Amino acid sequence: QPVIVAIDGPAGTGKSSTSKAVATQLGLSYLDTGAQYRAITWWMVTNGIDVEDPHAVAAAAGKPEIVSGTDPAGPTITVDGVDVAGPIRTQEVTSKVSLVSAVPEVRARITELQRSVAAGAERGIVVEGRDIGTTVLPDADLKVFLTASPEARAARRSGELGRGTDVRATQEALVARDRIDSSRKTSPLAKADDAVEVDTTELTLDQVVECVVTLVEE
Ligand code: C5P
Repeated sequence: QPVIVAIDGPAGTGKSSTSKAVATQLGLSYLDTGAQYRAITWWMVTNGIDVEDPHAVAAAAGKPEIVSGTDPAGPTITVDGVDVAGPIRTQEVTSKVSLVSAVPEVRARITELQRSVAAGAERGIVVEGRDIGTTVLPDADLKVFLTASPEARAARRSGELGRGTDVRATQEALVARDRIDSSRKTSPLAKADDAVEVDTTELTLDQVVECVVTLVEE
């Protein structure tokens, strides 16, 4: 019986690092659903779609073909065959992704993709995102909701982005993105009633991973 693990939470709480490490330790596949929303956003921007116009975004939502590679040791993402792992992390995409991901047609399309990837994972999968436990995979075997203080989240994200990053600007951008993600009408960022909440503010990555692995094995 494949094991399905849903890991949700806001940006900068350690979802990706935790999910990849848990998948590696347990021999499971791994899916970064944020990368899929970033990929469709990248395609919209690259093709001149006005992301401020939900009708234009909805009309184009079915066009790009997005493929995710689910090896936790080297996850990949392509759009129409083009490797977009780098371009989806630019500030332009990051600042626009919440607008695009709020469009119901986009969510319907990406949710369907996520369910088919999860169904194809033979041994099981760790899926990270914002609405996995509530909407995408409500029957997951384990649901985890990661949190951390805004300060800790901004410090971690600035560390990833490299030296010279303005921590305060990073914190403002994260908080702004969470606000949009939490307030959209269709499958907002939310903790499922049956999710285990883990506050990672004072924990190391290894401690969070151990905690999640223990929960899976229980
Ligand atoms: O996880 P990451 O920060 O890369 O996600 C980028 C954006 O994708 C989020 O800010 C959110 O707008 C969107 N997203 C979503 N639902 C998910 C995962 C990500 O709406 N399950």
